[in-house]
Amino acid sequence: MTNRRVLLRSRPSGKVGHDNFEIRDVAMPALGDGQVLRRTIYLSLDPYMRGRMSDAPSYAAPVTVGEAMCGHTVSQVIDSRNASFRQGDFVAAYDGWQQYGISDGRDLRKLDPQAAPISTAIGVLGMPGLTAFVGLIDIGQPAAGETVVVAAAAGAVGSVVGQLAKIRGCRSVGVAGSDAKCRYVVDELGFDACVNYKQDDVYTALKTACPRRIDIYFENVGGVVSAAAFRLLNRGARIPLCGLIAEYNARGEAPGPNLLPVLVNRAMIRGFIVSDHVDRTVAFIAEVAPYVRAGRIKYREDITDGLDAAPEAFMGLLEGRNFGKALVRVSPDPTHP
Ligand code: NDP
Repeated sequence: MTNRRVLLRSRPSGKVGHDNFEIRDVAMPALGDGQVLRRTIYLSLDPYMRGRMSDAPSYAAPVTVGEAMCGHTVSQVIDSRNASFRQGDFVAAYDGWQQYGISDGRDLRKLDPQAAPISTAIGVLGMPGLTAFVGLIDIGQPAAGETVVVAAAAGAVGSVVGQLAKIRGCRSVGVAGSDAKCRYVVDELGFDACVNYKQDDVYTALKTACPRRIDIYFENVGGVVSAAAFRLLNRGARIPLCGLIAEYNARGEAPGPNLLPVLVNRAMIRGFIVSDHVDRTVAFIAEVAPYVRAGRIKYREDITDGLDAAPEAFMGLLEGRNFGKALVRVSPDPTHP
């Protein structure tokens, strides 16, 4: 018995190409005691696989070159020497890009085909669905009446995000890459609006679609969609940072801030405005002033003399020509003659 496998042949630089893969037939080992043999029915293809093809540091180890690509699967047991599984059982597994999987069964989850179509175990009721749920409900914390924007809205995660948001009483606005996808998102999934980011001016179209701006921007893509959405955030908006697919194929650094380390390290970004925190002034002065007095906290000032010079100094500030705290000395400092 041979097993056809798709191996990672080489790591892509930029766009993934055929030459990054190799298809190879290998002999299946004989089934051992306690083992389960299954035939893959569905293999889930997910954006994270692009990351696994790369050996850049990430939250999970890359696929080894020469090994089969990884991936969630739905399979049927075709032979079992394990009392917990019978021939014919449907299971969810993580067998990767190959025809057959074999293991001791601890990695398998039995599926009930009466309860739901088995393919949903790796889709809406599987990892992508859970991603949408955790990102939207736990991190986004949607409240009725708020506006939720999600890109890749016709896809596995985005479609669930928008629909869950609707259920929570939010306005759901999708972003997708074709008119057909947008129609599906609105007509079939029930989103309130959908922007075609390949056709429309994304910022203008999003602004129109979000008359009360954006309370939750569920980040799936990065790039131009993200740039537009960020400009429309409401005070207190939440941004579950789920994925940055627009950047996965990028060569080198993507333009703009690189949020990948934030995603990979599960870091949190939270905006704040100092005027909300004036109550911390006393504590701040009590702690920092002695350090300044003692020279343990140093500082530098870049002083421009004369009010008239203020505009030039300000323009310089915006171009980084200041070196130290930019100040204009409008009149002499009596304490510093
Ligand atoms: P999808 O089913 O949505 O498929 C990917 C979609 O991304 C494409 O159909 C395409 O839709 C869109 N896309 C591709 N390239 C670009 C681009 N350059 N700019 C904008 N959109 C693009 O995938 P998933 O739902 O599985 O994944 C969506 C996101 O969620 C991904 O970023 C993924 O990495 C992330 N994710 C994160 C997880 C986590 O644990 N943090 C878990 C699972 C997924 P269109 O034609 O509309 O552009």
